[in-house]
Amino acid sequence: MNEFDIVVIGAGPGGSIAAKVAADNGYSTCFIEKEKLDNGGRYKACGGAMAWELIEEIDYPEDKIGRVIESLELHHVDGEDFSKKGKGAVVWRDIFDKFLTDLATESGAILKDDEQMMNIKKVKAGYQISTRKDEYKAKYIIAADGVSSPTLKLLDWPFFKSQDVILTITKEMNTSKSYIDKILGSDTVHLFFGIKDLIPVGYAWLFPKTDKITVGWGNQIDLVKNSRKEFEKFWMLPFVKEALKNSTLEIFKPHLIPVGVRPKLYEENVFAVGDSGGMVDPISGKGIPYAMMSGQIAIETIKSCEKKDRLDKLGTTYEKSLDRRFLNILKAKRIARDKIFKDDESLKKFLRLWEKHRASEIVMKKLLD
Ligand SMILES: Cc1cc2nc3c(=O)[nH]c(=O)nc-3n(C[C@H](O)[C@H](O)[C@H](O)COP(=O)(O)OP(=O)(O)OC[C@H]3O[C@@H](n4cnc5c(N)ncnc54)[C@H](O)[C@@H]3O)c2cc1C
Repeated sequence: MNEFDIVVIGAGPGGSIAAKVAADNGYSTCFIEKEKLDNGGRYKACGGAMAWELIEEIDYPEDKIGRVIESLELHHVDGEDFSKKGKGAVVWRDIFDKFLTDLATESGAILKDDEQMMNIKKVKAGYQISTRKDEYKAKYIIAADGVSSPTLKLLDWPFFKSQDVILTITKEMNTSKSYIDKILGSDTVHLFFGIKDLIPVGYAWLFPKTDKITVGWGNQIDLVKNSRKEFEKFWMLPFVKEALKNSTLEIFKPHLIPVGVRPKLYEENVFAVGDSGGMVDPISGKGIPYAMMSGQIAIETIKSCEKKDRLDKLGTTYEKSLDRRFLNILKAKRIARDKIFKDDESLKKFLRLWEKHRASEIVMKKLLD
């Protein structure tokens, strides 16, 4: 039996940061990932867009960036376009996630990749975790295994409401860098909106990377009637058709995004981190920084409650810290999302405001009212 203070399930951004911070703080830590990571990581359906501040904060090497971004073009299918300036980057998730995983192993966390967690049960003084290959025991569990979280399912935690789940389709299209630069611009990502004529609650996107375009579409799952047909409608928009002319399909992948907080984020030494807890911006779908922050906050919570000898406060401390750092804003954005996607007029009002303001400012200062 391999015994650890902390076992993290999943080596996405949430799991890797939790594993790194845990190891940095002297906890014996193991993180278990079902995918094989030795060949530079594995593909994950994701736009991979992030603010430049995050790139700087983690000292992410520039040669690992898919493209540096300076602006966001917001296209409404009615023909009205909006533009938002701001520096960011798009990254390939296999490379980005592997970078974070390496940080965790360098700090001393033990990575068990190519090992799927199959079962977890409560035992005396902790949990017993079974994978396809081995058995582990830990006092604390970090469930960082994504939106469907097999860990939380096995522990019978409630799932998200259907209004809080977005179904996405991603296609990775091969093209050439010069064609991307000509049609999409060398430093611009494009988002497409339209409640009546495109997507009732969500948006679609073209994210240029080096010589590929990540094409994505996401709609609230209970409003999807025929995802392939609805995706096709986006594909047939003249601008999109032109951008994807002569490109070839490399990868096709559906995936879910949670856009509301899971009904429970902590119970009996188990912490929901990142997508497993629904820590995603409900308006933009951005989840990478929140996964990373929640991984860090979960470990800081363990450390501070142990220090104060107040293990009875683990749940409230975790939830309060999440709220203070970012979750209160995401919760307010979840309420605002219903207002923004009420009709095309409200949506355009938001897009107009978004040109000049951060989405959090629009929501917290109630600029939509
Ligand atoms: C189409 C799409 C586009 C997106 N675009 C963006 C974007 O541009 N910017 C942004 O910030 N966010 C984006 N997101 C959201 C972002 O991808 C997630 O919020 C982020 O990946 C969450 O990180 P995580 O660590 O919580 O979970 P994940 O990244 O999902 O990692 C979970 C890990 O757990 C592993 N796992 C699962 N089950 C098991 C098991 N049984 N045993 C062991 N391991 C297991 C998985 O293999 C995976 O590596 C997008 C999401 C989608 C679907």
